[in-house]
Amino acid sequence: MPRLRNDRFTREGARGDTLVSMMPASTLVNDVHSGLNATNVCGIHQPISIDALREVIMLAASRGESVAVCGSRHAMGGQQFLSNAQLIDMRSLSRVIALDMEHGLLTVEAGIQWPALIEGAHALQRARAPTQEPHWGIAQKQTGADALTLGGALSANAHGRGLTMPPIVHDVESFTLIDARGASVLCSRSDNAELFSLAIGGYGLFGVIVTITLRLCPRVAVRRVVRMIDIDDAANAARRRVEAGFLYGDFQFDIDPNSPEFLTKGVFSCYQPVVGATVPDAAHELAPDDWERLLLLAHIDKNEAFRRYAQHYVATDGQLYWSDTHQLGVYLDGYHERLDAIMHAPCKASEMITEIYVPHERLIDLLHAAAQMLTQRGAEVIYGTIRLIKADCESFLPWAKADYACVIFNLHVHHSPAGLTHAADSFRALIDLALVRGGSFFLTYHRYATRAQLLTAYPMLPAFLAKKDAYDPAHVFSSDWHRALRATLCEDA
Ligand SMILES: Cc1cc2nc3c(=O)[nH]c(=O)nc-3n(C[C@H](O)[C@H](O)[C@H](O)COP(=O)(O)OP(=O)(O)OC[C@H]3O[C@@H](n4cnc5c(N)ncnc54)[C@H](O)[C@@H]3O)c2cc1C
Repeated sequence: MPRLRNDRFTREGARGDTLVSMMPASTLVNDVHSGLNATNVCGIHQPISIDALREVIMLAASRGESVAVCGSRHAMGGQQFLSNAQLIDMRSLSRVIALDMEHGLLTVEAGIQWPALIEGAHALQRARAPTQEPHWGIAQKQTGADALTLGGALSANAHGRGLTMPPIVHDVESFTLIDARGASVLCSRSDNAELFSLAIGGYGLFGVIVTITLRLCPRVAVRRVVRMIDIDDAANAARRRVEAGFLYGDFQFDIDPNSPEFLTKGVFSCYQPVVGATVPDAAHELAPDDWERLLLLAHIDKNEAFRRYAQHYVATDGQLYWSDTHQLGVYLDGYHERLDAIMHAPCKASEMITEIYVPHERLIDLLHAAAQMLTQRGAEVIYGTIRLIKADCESFLPWAKADYACVIFNLHVHHSPAGLTHAADSFRALIDLALVRGGSFFLTYHRYATRAQLLTAYPMLPAFLAKKDAYDPAHVFSSDWHRALRATLCEDA
């Protein structure tokens, strides 16, 4: 019997064999990281079966209403919420379904989060070979947070810190999606290939992804190799690491605007496969409290924050990890509220992420220009990373249109009108720096990009929206990001 978990509602009523929510008092939801997307929704459905999910979609469609779908609500552009509409929260559809041991294909429900997915894949392997280390592991996940759903990762076409990997579309064998008619559609490179390419990186607009078959890769021991380097040496260093077979790596840059090495000196950490190594159970890592102290320092003493961060990382040089679990990290829920209290902040604040891309040969030039621009504007970098991405040739609306260097900035944002205007200007200025260097930016970290910036980086956006209209003419699936995007693109040029 299909049922909905619906504990946020004030009243519930039975309709057929499915519990259907009645309109509750409006509920306020928000994104986890920036807290800048407070949205009134009419109700939250957390379906615990695909039939129950289909019922919610069909009911909305029959009423001419739109719904939004969310996973763990970390997105910051409002693509997981729709104001004054029903919200489908996918986190109860989170089972591990099967693992094809021969081909390393793991099938899961889309609401599963990374720790459960990784553990579930291990458990299935240990059940068959209890004395052996699991052979298969994930290729990549987002860094910086673990409690993110796989459905959210596909919808954003996420990436990790692989040195030679395209975004996650590359790791997807197939998925099933419930479309605007309530039909279950299998999507792969051979079945409904266009919908496959639209829904990955489709930000929830083409239907609700319910099950996913993910391509795992052989799980190996990796050694972390850490060096402090200058960005002038980074291109050669990265090339040498790739040639030597390193699998993962990133460069965490100096965040102190008073340092001559602002953005251009950093901690270069790479991960090299080591055949036959034994990975110890515990490595030297920072505890959550240490991370929170570092985050506080990043707000009040950036020089010391970077010094301590670098010192810690250098001390972990040579440590061994597994290629899958080394990608897990610490995310401190609600950390900014605690920092605001300690710092006696005059108004609420948080960090907001942005990601810009340039061809490799423009990276150094970009960083010097960004350092100058951010310093002049007084924009505060709390942390930032550089990674590499391989071109995505499969999704309809790719952000990785070419092999790029990705520069990620976490900027401090005051939630006052002046603070938000300042942040928006800084984010737009960063986009401009990338665009004039033949680069691009991630579409949905925020909604500040101008129409011209959107169309320069994503010339296929009008075609993407036309496909949306063709697959879902009544806009059964929508979001505040979707509506804002349509409005921006309709502005006079
Ligand atoms: C601290 C932090 C670190 C991050 N690091 C990275 C990173 O390293 N690499 C990277 O690429 N991104 C990164 N991101 C961005 C992140 O990958 C995306 O925001 C991701 O979509 C969040 O997943 P979620 O489960 O929280 O989804 P939500 O935020 O709830 O939703 C995000 C999008 O996915 C859609 N969606 C969710 N589930 C489904 C489903 N089952 N079917 C259809 N659509 C669905 C929603 O409609 C929405 O459009 C980071 C974000 C934060 C806040």
